[in-house]
Amino acid sequence: MLRNGGTGMKTSRLLVCLAAGLIACDGLSGPEGVTPITGDALVAHATYLADDSLYGRPAGWLDELTAAEYIANEFRRFGLEPLVPEFLQPFWIGDQPVAGAPIRQTRPWSQNVIGSIPGRGALAQEWVIVGAHYDHVGWAVGPDSVLRIFNGADDNASGTAAMLEIARYLAEYVARAGLGGAERRSVMFHAYGAEEIGLRGSEFYCANPIVPLEAVAAMVNLDMVGRLRDDLLTVGLSTTASFWPVKLAAANRDGLTFALEDKFVGRSDHYCFYRAGRPAIHLFTGLHPEYHTPSDDVHLLNVEGLRQVTELAAQMVLDLITARDLNPGLGAPQH
Ligand SMILES: [Zn+2]
Repeated sequence: MLRNGGTGMKTSRLLVCLAAGLIACDGLSGPEGVTPITGDALVAHATYLADDSLYGRPAGWLDELTAAEYIANEFRRFGLEPLVPEFLQPFWIGDQPVAGAPIRQTRPWSQNVIGSIPGRGALAQEWVIVGAHYDHVGWAVGPDSVLRIFNGADDNASGTAAMLEIARYLAEYVARAGLGGAERRSVMFHAYGAEEIGLRGSEFYCANPIVPLEAVAAMVNLDMVGRLRDDLLTVGLSTTASFWPVKLAAANRDGLTFALEDKFVGRSDHYCFYRAGRPAIHLFTGLHPEYHTPSDDVHLLNVEGLRQVTELAAQMVLDLITARDLNPGLGAPQH
């Protein structure tokens, strides 16, 4: 997540599960043959991405590209379709100086990683996007000459891990459980580069979309989802479509409480979708003392909390791709 920026909006809090009725809170049952989302799988992704060997994945560095290639290889392993060559969408970041330690760029390019699961029937022309940025702020050498690596385990190896597990789960679900012959929307998975220097990856995508932005029925952004506390998940931009509270409640298997909070609207990759008037949502487990410090490490992740948020998002996306009555229009939340 970006350190600065954004506009303040209203804050509200409610227990969406209760508001929508307890039946909806039972969630969806997992189908036979689909490997469940596990903490072990999530931690494996986060551990790779937040290892010192990737030097904090700074925009423009080869370490960022190494992380992108890891994600692309996972997309390939899951059987996702590439919509761009090798799943990589490169973009130029050499047009503005990168300000502030610890970021320095060594090459003027970053890249998004994009994979998809095609839909079926008439609904296939509509798209659900699941996004997470995978870069972080890099490293710094202090006045004591000590190298400090900002590993960004929560920001945003956690969201990247969640996005990868959702991609794996949905790909298996569609392939093995099949969803019968039912019509379903297409899904695109986005891992954004260069978020920390100004949302560059998502802004490039929105300026150069692979499918028209009007075809985006829903966008789910996962940025900093690894530090769940008190079962409280912050949900940004739930007011962008009337269906969000209902979908959140229906997918809430673990009894999470939702804090509806829009003050981070300009600080992550949902922002350009929001500006385009698309139903976009940001899932976030909140700021903490290790935010943008060298101490944001894997051992501080709440693994079970990360699993719960990932499960919630996966079930919600499954609902979003199959729902017949999805109204993408703007509207007030229906409680
Ligand atoms: Zn950040």
